[in-house]
Amino acid sequence: MNINRQIHIFIKRRLPLHLRRTRNIFFVSFTTCALVGLLAISAWLYWMDNTRNANSALLAAAMVVVSMGVWRFGGGVRWGGLLYQITLMSVVLYNAAITGGVTSPVMTWLAIIPLLPLFTASRAWALGSMGASLISVTVLYYVQSHGMLASITGDHAALVDTSWKSMSFAAGMFSLMLLAQIVLVQTYDTANEQHLRRLRRSNKRLEALSTNLTRANAHKDQFLAMVSHEMRTPLNAVMGYLGLLATDTQLGAATTQYVQGARNSAAHLVTVINDLLDFSQIQQGKLVLSPQTVHLHDMLTRTHQTLAPRASDQGLAYPLLLDDSLPTWANLDPHRMAQIIINLLGNALKFTAQGHVCLSVRFERDATQPKQGHLRLSVEDTGEGIAADALDAIFQPFVQLKASNNHLKAGNALNGNGLGLAITRSLVQSHKGTIGVTSTLGMGSTFTVTLPIEEAPAPAKRHTTQDLTHAAAANLLIVDDHLTNRLVASATIKRSLPNATIDQAENGTEALEKMRHHRYDLVLMDLIMPDISGAEVVRRIRNDPDHPYRDVAVIALTANVAEEAVNECLALGFLDVLPKPFEREVLIHAVLTHAFKEEAAPSTL
Ligand code: ADP
Repeated sequence: MNINRQIHIFIKRRLPLHLRRTRNIFFVSFTTCALVGLLAISAWLYWMDNTRNANSALLAAAMVVVSMGVWRFGGGVRWGGLLYQITLMSVVLYNAAITGGVTSPVMTWLAIIPLLPLFTASRAWALGSMGASLISVTVLYYVQSHGMLASITGDHAALVDTSWKSMSFAAGMFSLMLLAQIVLVQTYDTANEQHLRRLRRSNKRLEALSTNLTRANAHKDQFLAMVSHEMRTPLNAVMGYLGLLATDTQLGAATTQYVQGARNSAAHLVTVINDLLDFSQIQQGKLVLSPQTVHLHDMLTRTHQTLAPRASDQGLAYPLLLDDSLPTWANLDPHRMAQIIINLLGNALKFTAQGHVCLSVRFERDATQPKQGHLRLSVEDTGEGIAADALDAIFQPFVQLKASNNHLKAGNALNGNGLGLAITRSLVQSHKGTIGVTSTLGMGSTFTVTLPIEEAPAPAKRHTTQDLTHAAAANLLIVDDHLTNRLVASATIKRSLPNATIDQAENGTEALEKMRHHRYDLVLMDLIMPDISGAEVVRRIRNDPDHPYRDVAVIALTANVAEEAVNECLALGFLDVLPKPFEREVLIHAVLTHAFKEEAAPSTL
């Protein structure tokens, strides 16, 4: 423990905010020490019946208090410090004069006085103060050697036993000591300056390095966004066609199995791309939450259901326990919340061969703020468990454990990429929540997440599933420059909503043209197109006061699901942003939600 630092912090905490600079703290330390010292010396001198010296020490103590007042009430270190310097110098000179002049031991204090400006003001002030001490010694020597001291102080003792030799020796010594101090300060200054110059040079090098790194990082982002876009576009077609194939009832059992296998692998590839993108965004601190009012019960049930087929394939019990304490509506980012739950449930299913995987959720209301509280999610499994010494490591990126003995190993691409828990933990932390795990090897694990959430009032209107079926006869436009993408989206929608009318446009210009002449219930718009981007199409329509269908409903279908891009779309007036490759259910749900119009005819869905 550094005692000086402790004292420094102690003083700092007691000072008003505007007086917390280091020079103020030094000033307080110096003046306090001087005050205590002067009071102690005066008490000692009174005890020795040395009244004159004692009075001068007491007066000096009073002047130190005044200098502290000057410092505290507006004068600052500059004027407070000056008064303190003059006080100390006067008391030292006076006491020296009445106790032997330049040969008095009191003179040693003159060497210490310039220390305060050294720390609280500038080098120039310190040198000035040393100069003043030097001049005082010379003047005192002159006065004393010419026999004037006794007449000034009225004290004959000042000249007793003081030959000119010993006087000049003492004055010379003090002068030399002060000169040595001046040289020391200058040397210290020069050394400091050189050190600073070196630091500045290395700072410049670091700045250049950091600029290069930032540039390289920006390139990495662009590269990642481009690669993900280029991979998502064909993957969209693969996923779409496989989805359509999977619903074909004429396939044989073996073919259905092949299709299912291909779908699983494609879905895994999508997860890997999404994970890498998410991880890169988290690394750059670009993860932004988009909270909205969510029907908690529905959201949790839907998220849990996503993995129900996998649990039933594995023959696992898969209960969802929703506590009565849960509020009906809450403010949260449903996409990120679902991602947290799916990551934990996915892991639990992956590492559990028999028994159960259970998701339980409850709400703990704050005692002081009734609308606020903590959502406690826990995912319990009866799987292989995790060794105690690996419990921290699994939250690190790219860490996976060996199934056999639960030791660390390098990534195994087929089973995951080791990013799931790192992303989950970052998501939880960005919600200002906490995540923890308890586990027993061979018995199972329980991951617990606590997230602060806020209960919300019910939104004004919400479509029921029954309402939404009206949209089945919707009139839709699909805009995409890739023919395959248009075909997949169109076939996917047609399969679920055979009464829907689907028009297509292969670029932004054609989309603008069609949207001016037709009233579409919903437009599915690709964002990146060779002529006019999807965002620009929407911007032009929304900004055109003469456009007949200015408020047309548009959702974006994009391979770039970076948070920034999504928020930009929403700000432009897109109702929603769907990632490509899309899940069939997600696409249909979006169409049903957004294409719904009060006047739409009921359908035969
Ligand atoms: P991934 O699942 O992609 O390998 P994660 O970051 O999600 O990566 O998990 C890291 C490691 O933590 C996993 O490889 C696994 O060894 C271990 N792990 C995570 N969840 C569980 C669980 N429920 N049961 C046993 N081990 C788990």
